[in-house]
Amino acid sequence: MVAGPCAVESFEVLDEIAGKIRAAGANILRGGAFKPRTSPYSFQGLGEKGLQILREVGDRHGLPVVTEVMDPRQIPLVERYADMFQIGARNMQNFDLLKEVGQSRKPVLLKRGMSATVRDMLMSAEYILSEGNPNVVLCERGVRSFEDSTRNMLDLSAVPNVKAQSHLPIIVDPSHATGRPDLIPSMACAAVAAGADGVHIEVHSCPEKALSDGPQALLPHQYAAVMEQIRRLADVMGKTIPSV
Ligand code: PEP
Ligand code: MN
Repeated sequence: MVAGPCAVESFEVLDEIAGKIRAAGANILRGGAFKPRTSPYSFQGLGEKGLQILREVGDRHGLPVVTEVMDPRQIPLVERYADMFQIGARNMQNFDLLKEVGQSRKPVLLKRGMSATVRDMLMSAEYILSEGNPNVVLCERGVRSFEDSTRNMLDLSAVPNVKAQSHLPIIVDPSHATGRPDLIPSMACAAVAAGADGVHIEVHSCPEKALSDGPQALLPHQYAAVMEQIRRLADVMGKTIPSV
C-alpha cells in the first residue's frame, strides 16, 4: 500500500501526512521531488531538498520511500535517498532511463504510459530486467481516452492481463486514473478484487493548498476509510496487507 502527497512540499506537511497514512496501514511513503508537470511554469518539485525531506520523514515513521526519477542524470542522487525508483507514465518508454535503473538493484515502480499497451509496458519492464535488475513492480494508472469526466480511463483488465503473461507484481493507482476523490475508493476496491498486488493513492492533509494534484487527493481520514475497506476485501481475496 503506497501513499503520500503528489509532491514533497515541506517537512511539516509531509510529516503530518506520513504519520496519518502509517496509522491507516500504508507500507510505503511516496512523494515527488522531481515532478513531470505539463506546464514548465507549474511547481517542478524541490529537487534534492525534497529527497532529503522524504528520507528523513520516511525514517521518522519507519516507512520505506519511493520517488520519481525523470532523467538518467538524476539516478545517482535519487538512489542515495530513495528505497525505490518510480518511473512515471511520461517516461515509460524512455529506454535509456529504463536501462540505467536496470543497472541498480533498487526496486522500480514502472507506471504505464498514457498511450501504452499492456505489451508496451511489459516490454519496458524487460528493459530493466534485461540489465539485471529483477525488482520491478508495474502500475496501472489509466490511459488516455475520449471520456472527459475522468482524468484517464482506468484499465482494470490490465491486472489479470499482466498476471496471465508475467510474474511481475502489479499495483493500481486510482488517483491518477480517475483524478476524482469521489471515484477513488470504489476503484481502489475494484483493483484489489481484480487481483492487484497493491494500491497507490495520493493523500494530502490540505488538498486546496497542495502544489500539485490537490483536486485528486484524499484527506487522511478518507484514506483510512478506504484502507479499512481494502483490508476487508483483501481478506476475502485470501491476501494480507503486511504491517510495514
Ligand atoms: C505521479 O505519480 O504523481 C504522476 C505524475 O503520475 P503519472 O506518471 O502516472 O502521470
Ligand atoms: Mn500526482
